[in-house]
Amino acid sequence: MSETLGLVKLGSSEGYKLEDLKVELKDRFRDYDVRVFNRLDIPALAFDSLREQCHSTRILVLLEEHAQTVGAQHLLGVTSFDLYVPGMNFVFGEARCPGRAAVISTYRLSVGSSNNPKLFGSRVVKEAVHEIGHMLGLKHCSEALCVMYFSERLADTDRKEADFCSNCEHRMRLVEVE
Ligand code: ZN
Ligand code: ZN
Repeated sequence: MSETLGLVKLGSSEGYKLEDLKVELKDRFRDYDVRVFNRLDIPALAFDSLREQCHSTRILVLLEEHAQTVGAQHLLGVTSFDLYVPGMNFVFGEARCPGRAAVISTYRLSVGSSNNPKLFGSRVVKEAVHEIGHMLGLKHCSEALCVMYFSERLADTDRKEADFCSNCEHRMRLVEVE
């Protein structure tokens, strides 16, 4: 039986449709059973009201528990809240590497894409594929077009592709077999 790669919306349900993301992910993670799970609330503990941001590592802990509950080997949370980790102004996402949980935020992906839903959608796919790559054991890649390239700003995200370079693809296969 193939392992489950779960998608779950965190917090309010408006905005991006996970079913769209699922279609893109099925294409790239063919060995996995990609499934959308019911929406989850973000616990107050994860929200910093002064920063008006969510602490992404606390969300990972929640997602790990939830992955256990629903029986998903890997679970990606998608939220419209802005995310941070201490020491950084914001993060687009965070993942256990390797591990069971990852989260991405769409908050900063909408900048400059209000008239361009396709651009927004492609950014979501890239960030999702990137964090799933981490869950599956991949580190950052120095190839600027590879999806595992570290995005410091949106320009990095827009430049790179939504796919793994041949090296990363190869490494991912090795990790899977181990
Ligand atoms: Zn990364
Ligand atoms: Zn790469």
